[in-house]
Amino acid sequence: MDIGFIGLGSMGRGMAANLLRAGFGLRLWNRSPGKAQDLVRDGARLMEHPRDVAAASGMVVTMLSDDAALREVVQGEHGIGRQLGEGGIHLSMSTVSPQTAQELAALHAARGTHYVAAPVFGRPDAAAAAKLFVLCAGPQAARQAVMPALQAMGQRVFELGDDAAAANVLKLSGNFMLMAAIEALAEAITLGERYGLPRERTVEVLTQSILPAPVMVNYGRQIAQHSYQPAGFKLSLGLKDADLVLGAARKAAMPMPLAQLVQGRLLSALACQRGDMDWSAAAIGVSEDAGLSVPPAKHD
Ligand code: NAP
Repeated sequence: MDIGFIGLGSMGRGMAANLLRAGFGLRLWNRSPGKAQDLVRDGARLMEHPRDVAAASGMVVTMLSDDAALREVVQGEHGIGRQLGEGGIHLSMSTVSPQTAQELAALHAARGTHYVAAPVFGRPDAAAAAKLFVLCAGPQAARQAVMPALQAMGQRVFELGDDAAAANVLKLSGNFMLMAAIEALAEAITLGERYGLPRERTVEVLTQSILPAPVMVNYGRQIAQHSYQPAGFKLSLGLKDADLVLGAARKAAMPMPLAQLVQGRLLSALACQRGDMDWSAAAIGVSEDAGLSVPPAKHD
């Protein structure tokens, strides 16, 4: 089966490669065409406009940075919207707002096409290794149709019903937990440092006793070593997600004071030119607030 794939960033490149490996034919589009080179060498076709990747009644995967990019690729002058045709499926895997998911789902339904939301947990290394966790919601028949593609990209698919927005809400809840964990790790490590404990020792003890979670181990190591480059998940995108969490909370009339604190931390890091570092670089602000110097950027 041929699939359209749009968005070859840090995540999209590995995901598209796994679809090719699983035997799907791929028509690609990326704003910066150079990023498609390896995939084209492996048999994918690079198209001129987003709409060119869409075939009548076919499937198009999108993995783009944010709501604006997604809307442009669907509704813009050269968007996939009209091209998909009756019965076509848009498998939308970016982290976007529940509201955008709902609006695009309605737009697709009005055109006789289907919108399936499938945001993911896992960083670029997990995307490359087909180890993503996928949160999937949308019309049931369409969910079934996209399952082989999702299974080629992920280690597990969680189905969340017919309302596309549900998958995006859960994705935002997960990212909220991660950004809060980064802040908590940074504060705990820095408190230890102020009392003379080596940063890595704090992480070692906490992750081998009360918090033996891979997320704590991996972010703990990065934060202990102040190692934030190259970015797995760019801090600017992390701030986008903090904004989305607070937007969703505002709509639900629900205060999220912890999310507000972390949003401020990320915003301050952006102002300090850290937007292209990994989002765990928010931890630098914790050290600075404690009057501790941070060694020059380390690379992994
Ligand atoms: P990325 O490396 O910054 O890639 C973003 C992609 O979006 C690129 O293909 C980029 O094109 C494209 N894009 C941005 N603005 C555009 C526009 N206006 N029009 C058309 N294309 C546009 O980001 P990523 O890390 O792959 O993340 C992609 C999505 O996955 C985001 O929603 C992110 O929140 C989510 N996510 C990321 C991770 C992670 O660890 N990185 C994990 C889970 C989910 P160019 O190549 O031309 O810049």
